[in-house]
Amino acid sequence: MAKNKNKNDRQTNLSNTKLETNKKCFLKDGVLEYYGSLTVGELANALKIQASDIIKKYFLKGIIYTINSNLDDEIIGEICIDNNIDFKKMVENEANALSSILNLKDDPKELKERPPVVTVMGHVDHGKTTLIDTIRNSRLTEAEFGGISQEIGAYQKQCHGKLITFIDTPGHEAFTEMRSRGASVTDIVVLVVAADDGVMPQTIEAIDHAKAASVPIIVAINKIDVPGANPEKVISELMKYDIIPEKYGGSNIFCEISAKKNIGIDNLLENILLEAEMLELKANPNRYAYGTVLEAKLDKGEGPKATFLISNGTLKVGDYVVVGSTYGKIRRMTNDLNQIVTEAIPSMPVSVIGINEVPQAGDHFFALDNEKLAKEIANDRKLRLEEESRKSNNVSTLDELYDKVKEGELKNINIVLKANSTGSVEAVKNAILKLNVEGTKINIIRASAGAITESDVLLANASHALIYGFNVRPDSNVRNKAIEEKVEIRLHRIIYALIEELESMLKGMRAKKEIEQYLGQAEVRQVFKASKIGTIAGCYVVDGEITSTSLLRVLRDGEEVYNGKINGLKRFKDDVKEVKSGFECGISILNFNDIHEGDIIEAYKMVEEEDNGRQN
Ligand code: GDP
Repeated sequence: MAKNKNKNDRQTNLSNTKLETNKKCFLKDGVLEYYGSLTVGELANALKIQASDIIKKYFLKGIIYTINSNLDDEIIGEICIDNNIDFKKMVENEANALSSILNLKDDPKELKERPPVVTVMGHVDHGKTTLIDTIRNSRLTEAEFGGISQEIGAYQKQCHGKLITFIDTPGHEAFTEMRSRGASVTDIVVLVVAADDGVMPQTIEAIDHAKAASVPIIVAINKIDVPGANPEKVISELMKYDIIPEKYGGSNIFCEISAKKNIGIDNLLENILLEAEMLELKANPNRYAYGTVLEAKLDKGEGPKATFLISNGTLKVGDYVVVGSTYGKIRRMTNDLNQIVTEAIPSMPVSVIGINEVPQAGDHFFALDNEKLAKEIANDRKLRLEEESRKSNNVSTLDELYDKVKEGELKNINIVLKANSTGSVEAVKNAILKLNVEGTKINIIRASAGAITESDVLLANASHALIYGFNVRPDSNVRNKAIEEKVEIRLHRIIYALIEELESMLKGMRAKKEIEQYLGQAEVRQVFKASKIGTIAGCYVVDGEITSTSLLRVLRDGEEVYNGKINGLKRFKDDVKEVKSGFECGISILNFNDIHEGDIIEAYKMVEEEDNGRQN
């Protein structure tokens, strides 16, 4: 359709949407459909009544409106009812525009190969930063102008005439943070493992993250220049985590490098291109751009400044953009060499100026040719975000899961499993994998021994997973992080109970039973021996409260060492009913004296479960 081609000849089917009419409300078959808020004038116009009638009516009620006053939803509804008209607020404004942009099918003929986007991950000190810098510096010597802009957050490197985009921030925190915001920009993960150190905890975490995101892993065995480096040991260690080289029948590419001495880097780059070729990464430069914000900040001189990574399309100076809940017009763009550019094509990082507010890293952006629409969508998003943050306090992840499973919307449940020993990890994992409820599937995206950590919460959040703790507990920091990230932590001591809960969830049923209700945690600061009572723990309540009827568990390094009843709760010499967070107290535990300084005493009670309440 000629109408759908704009003057730059980039495709957009936005002009097909009803929003293009720039109207905020429509009266159709006796129903007023609207979005955002309406002014008295707009509503009167849509309902074909006099604005002065609305103003008069509310004046008599003591509310003063002018023709330009914004009406809230309640009043809009009231006025519609008064006029015998049904009403419906649309939230699809943004969705309409977005889906018409994102779902715009690219003509296969328009698709062109695009550079892969690479993130470097691995354990601390294994050489991630050195690798990124070595590649960056070789880019620098290639570049004839200036230096590489340090602030852009990504750069492109050429290899045999092809480009590779490297994300500057190494490590899985940034990767997870982006994913948890729904932004998956990485096509390939380069996993750096130091040959003199081998597989370490963050190596495994990085593998979990890459796998959860279904991103292929290329292993860079680093520091091969160090005497005693043992690449074969790294290979055999990684095989335990299903990272298997092609020579052993696996699908992972392994490269031996020295990031510091610049050995094997070209080979690594060639292999990245090889992997990219297999992924057949393509994009259509001939459409309006969309992509992700990598970094953003307020520049003193230039105002809000953001780095965009283009996923698809071409971004041009002069385009209007919606970015998260803000919008703007691209005034200036610079590439990773700080050069001014007028266009940015797929997989290219560019620093842009012209957005009205500072967006957040991980926000999506899309370009369009209509400023008014860009502004409306951004405003709608802002309103919705505010609404969501108001509602979010009572979101219960497990409840939502139950509902989704019940309604058949959800077939796969992701789980992060933590247990007190490798033996119990295996036992619980095997029991879970044996669960067989037709049409559903459980993916265990991490299973490891040890306390529940913030990294588990981040992974669960990014992958919409539940965390299951078996004989391990989160400390109060992790618990708070989980609440903040809206991640559900389920805690069990008996495999059977854990399996039963999962099974009933898969069947979309809610089992009613007694569950634990968390009360609070106290830190043991001193230990006293009293001849009659036994050991008394001098404690400081760090979260919630401890009561004189609590059930207690004693945690050491996140693991439960005892579970039982409270014997006595004292403030100074007096017995008390409860001690709240921020106060000291003495706690003795029935039949348990092996309390250590630094232990955490957690108080809980058993309650009849309603609607499958949360345990954390
Ligand atoms: P990161 O924490 O993974 O980003 O690790 P860094 O890049 O900061 O490297 C940690 C240390 O290892 C630094 O002292 C580097 O100089 C050193 N290093 C990195 N790569 C190599 C290498 O290939 N060979 C040797 N000998 N040292 C390296």
